[in-house]
Amino acid sequence: MSEVIPYAVRDGIAVITMHNPPVNGLGHPLRVAIMDGLEQASADAAVQAVVVIGSEKAFSGGADISEFNTPKAGMAPTLHQIIDTLEAMRKPVVAAIGGFAMGGGLELALGCHYRVAAPGAQLALPEVKLGILPGAGGTQRLPRAIGAEAALDLMVSGNPVTPERAPQGLVDEIVQGSLLDTAVGFAGKLVAEKRPLRRLRDEKPAFAGDAAAFFAAAKDRVARQSRGYPAPPKIVACVEAAVTMPFDEGRKFERARFEELVVTPESKAMRHAFFGERAIDKIPDVPKDTPTIDVKSAAIIGAGTMGGGIAMAFANAGIPVRLLDVSRDALERGIGVIRKNYAGTVEKGRLSQAEVDKRMALIQPALSYEEIRDCDLVLEAVFERMALKREVFGRLDEVMKPGAILATNTSALDVNEIAASTRRPESVLGLHFFSPANVMRLLEIVRGAKTSKPVLASAMKLSKRLRKVGIVAGVCDGFIGNRMLEEYLRQAYFLVDEGAAPQDVDRALEEWGMAMGPFAMLDMAGQDIGWAVRKRRQGDPRARRYSAWIDRVCELGRFGQKTGAGVYRYEKGDRTPQPDPEIAKLIEGYRKETGVTPRAVSAEEIVERCIFALANEGARILEEGIALRAVDIDMVYLAGYGFPVYRGGPMFYADTVGLERVLSSIERFAKGYRGECWQAAPLLAKLAAAGKTFN
Ligand code: NAD
Repeated sequence: MSEVIPYAVRDGIAVITMHNPPVNGLGHPLRVAIMDGLEQASADAAVQAVVVIGSEKAFSGGADISEFNTPKAGMAPTLHQIIDTLEAMRKPVVAAIGGFAMGGGLELALGCHYRVAAPGAQLALPEVKLGILPGAGGTQRLPRAIGAEAALDLMVSGNPVTPERAPQGLVDEIVQGSLLDTAVGFAGKLVAEKRPLRRLRDEKPAFAGDAAAFFAAAKDRVARQSRGYPAPPKIVACVEAAVTMPFDEGRKFERARFEELVVTPESKAMRHAFFGERAIDKIPDVPKDTPTIDVKSAAIIGAGTMGGGIAMAFANAGIPVRLLDVSRDALERGIGVIRKNYAGTVEKGRLSQAEVDKRMALIQPALSYEEIRDCDLVLEAVFERMALKREVFGRLDEVMKPGAILATNTSALDVNEIAASTRRPESVLGLHFFSPANVMRLLEIVRGAKTSKPVLASAMKLSKRLRKVGIVAGVCDGFIGNRMLEEYLRQAYFLVDEGAAPQDVDRALEEWGMAMGPFAMLDMAGQDIGWAVRKRRQGDPRARRYSAWIDRVCELGRFGQKTGAGVYRYEKGDRTPQPDPEIAKLIEGYRKETGVTPRAVSAEEIVERCIFALANEGARILEEGIALRAVDIDMVYLAGYGFPVYRGGPMFYADTVGLERVLSSIERFAKGYRGECWQAAPLLAKLAAAGKTFN
């Protein structure tokens, strides 16, 4: 690769090349280099115009995340100063955007007088996804470039647009051929034609119609759509400021809103989630250069609910997959479901028929193990029975080529015991997908006692190809997610014993931010799954107490949506949970039998008991080393359980509340109804006493 020259002059045009791989994050050294370039270009009488360019892959991804929370982030020249200097230049400045311009990167481009971009480049102000807003003039310049309405859409969604689809005013020319040559040519033309310098700060945002009415409606809409998220309403206010205030005042307004946002627990939680997605890749004893097995083909045993969804996940990633089941019938049924799912995607316009045909062709049925022996990875998704799993793994051990990865999708069975049914336990691990497996992002990667490092590293790499959030978990009943869920549900059942209606519990948690309350969720997933687990544990001395009213719901054959009724009832063809007087009666009867006099239960108590139950079990999981870090637990809940991003995950939320307060609440619960189920995790008690946090 040739060396990158940060400043050069070509045909009277100064070219400032940003170079801070991989994304041209606007860290301090790069900011200094840009400023130096601008000064040279100003001082050099031979220079008539300036082009600012990055690499072909990246104009700039915005702030340099390695500088976050360090003094370097605020060191001069700041991004503000650079953008102001760019904009004030007396010679035309052209941004040449290849790859992407995100956040501060796009704000920098908006400070340039003109912008040219490569086809397909991604332009975005995604700050909203971190609970903040574009704070380097973006909320003021973007409305001036493309109009208030389009600017609002872009900043409230945070989603990227390409130059081809960008609102008018964002990109002046789409490049054909070389980005640099075109930009230099474009700058030359500006000079030759004496085109005026377009300084966005001096323009008025284009606005058609009644601004007051527009912003009132926008505030209303955004408040409804982004409940719990603090940034969108403030973005609306900033865009309104861009329309109603002079530029400098608007900028001050933007800065003040930015500073309010950046300290909110919600925005801290969202940044925690953002960094969490990067943190989970690091496994302390598995270095980055661990050799990996390239998964070029996969096989799945069991073409049921999970096997089918997982096959789709592989096909969606372009990996050929063989689907094996016991009979032709079972296979045909499985493939039929896959076909139906894809057809739905085509109907919704999300995939073309040609694309679906390509993916379907990647999924090949198989009826014998001989047909799968050469696959690089095999994933077992048969019924949840240990004897059966052992039998399947014994067979896989016999047929699979040496070095193949042998994975199980078990929800709760002992992965070590499954591995022990082979002569190659080092090749065995759990890959715990969530239903529907082609949609849900979470993947628990279960590391057995003997799983080798290359096998683990390969699974991590595979999770990325499948576009999953892969999180390493140790072996225990329920791994990270479902083990914690059990404690959460235990409290949800007890709260109903004590006097709350199921819909009260769901409403309280949904208003707090959970995507779905526990009872609606169980009805969706199928009540029979948990029921089977509870029955299996009957008589087990280690089994913990739970409330049996939920079993009575199952005894009525009410398994949830799939049977038309569960804890709720459902109208035909409608998934909306309807409270059912029959269940109210059942619960009332249960209370009488168990001698409980119902009391009023507050929404606050519902949230505290359920969420602290998650954090408390999370603390045990952390202490036992089942999860590597608190952030891994948070990411499991954010990616797989509908936990609100703006709460940061159960462990982060407990940190936000304060562990001392969490502990004292748990001590109080321990004196209440079924208090014997509450024992503070030792790690929680220890951290609380030391004034520390999980994260
Ligand atoms: P399922 O009943 O829908 O499918 C199981 C499939 O395995 C059936 O098609 C069956 O014919 C096939 N099968 C049974 N024995 C076989 C054998 N010896 N060889 C080949 N195929 C065989 O079950 P599911 O819900 O897909 O669950 C499969 C596994 O995934 C279980 O271990 C379960 O615990 C786990 N899991 C399920 C969920 C979920 O939400 N359903 C979530 C995560 C993990």
